Amino acid sequence: MSYIDFREAMKLKAYLLAEGLNIDKSIESNTNFNYKKFHLYDHSSETPSIIIPDDIIIFHDKEYSGKDIISRNRFNPNSKWLVKLINGKLVLENPDGKINDISFPPRPLFDNLEVNNQPLEKLVTKLGTDLCGVILSNNCFYFGSKKECKFCEILPTYLDYKSYPTATKKTKHLIDALNKALEADNTFEHIVITTGNVGSYDKTLELFIEVGKGIKETKDTKKIISTATLMPPNDFTYIDKLKEAGFDNVYFDLEILDENLFNIVVPGKADYGYQRLIDALKYATNIFGKGNVFSNLVYGIQTLPESLETLNIDFIKENQKCLEAVDFLLNINVLPVFTVYHSSGRNEIGKIELEGSKLFEFFEEYGRRIYGSNLIPESRKSIIFSLGSTSNTMYNDGFVLAALESQKNKLAVEV
Ligand code: SF4
Repeated sequence: MSYIDFREAMKLKAYLLAEGLNIDKSIESNTNFNYKKFHLYDHSSETPSIIIPDDIIIFHDKEYSGKDIISRNRFNPNSKWLVKLINGKLVLENPDGKINDISFPPRPLFDNLEVNNQPLEKLVTKLGTDLCGVILSNNCFYFGSKKECKFCEILPTYLDYKSYPTATKKTKHLIDALNKALEADNTFEHIVITTGNVGSYDKTLELFIEVGKGIKETKDTKKIISTATLMPPNDFTYIDKLKEAGFDNVYFDLEILDENLFNIVVPGKADYGYQRLIDALKYATNIFGKGNVFSNLVYGIQTLPESLETLNIDFIKENQKCLEAVDFLLNINVLPVFTVYHSSGRNEIGKIELEGSKLFEFFEEYGRRIYGSNLIPESRKSIIFSLGSTSNTMYNDGFVLAALESQKNKLAVEV
């Protein structure tokens, strides 16, 4: 039955995100996969000796979303989860010896194109199976004032890999790259534009408006949903302009629910103001509509002590705190989403050993609360993007599981 199979696959994904994944050299003969790149962050402190896939596909949900459960490859050569090729077949070997059939998302269809004599993929990344991701700036002025978010690795990762000559990309290049990528690759259904803060909050938003206007025609023709992820502006009326530029959704990320911990973990955002960020989210719901305004929180660090010591995290308490954040944001008609903490060693917090079972339990209950909130139209089939877009977190997985559970319960009542 789909609900049970989906639940098992989602549990498997929780373990893969928590414990990482090892990749056997045997996969080298399989070359058509979207290989690992560093969109925002590196996901591991380990360097693989071969080219490895960014994601693995572990389950197809034909019942509700028509999409795949897909898991990010958080490469860990010591992990007991191993991807390998056996008799030409890709499999995931579990710690107990059990085998799951898996596949890799293929290369994007724009990988031979260029912008400004540079490979287009230096500007645009394919995330999962259908999401087009762009980083406007890999710098953030919080790093200049030493007030960067303590989990953030955006600038140090850029400095190590420098895939584009400047940390802040030219908007003209981004517009050209996005238009070309969307024309060339018809698997895209969503665009997300993310950034560090550039110059000022309002200036950052102006850059989004420029890009939004530059891709509006292609986006509308191709019926692609676009999402802007940034800090709110000083002048809230700028939020109206973001909507006018063609963005369908907006994220203003709170990252930490507890206000005291917020002041410690995200000191730059604390200067902007905890309450002001919440006011901006409330304002945005009037402009973008309920169900189109999001705020991210980081799973794994909501209950850190003030010292930011990571050794004694109690994941029962972490789950409770995260669910408190879910209720708080739903209460103001904002959709909470969660990234799952990871560190490649380039941030201040450092490594955290997550627990796969607790990670699963959190997203299972999270999904029920979001599904029950009625903020999401039935036609959407996900919280944002799609099940197949979000390999590095599990909010859509939790939502789809709740939808399947609800279908199962309705059937049981009818029988
Ligand atoms: S706002 Fe925080 S998380 Fe975002 S780029 Fe700046 S430092 Fe990083």
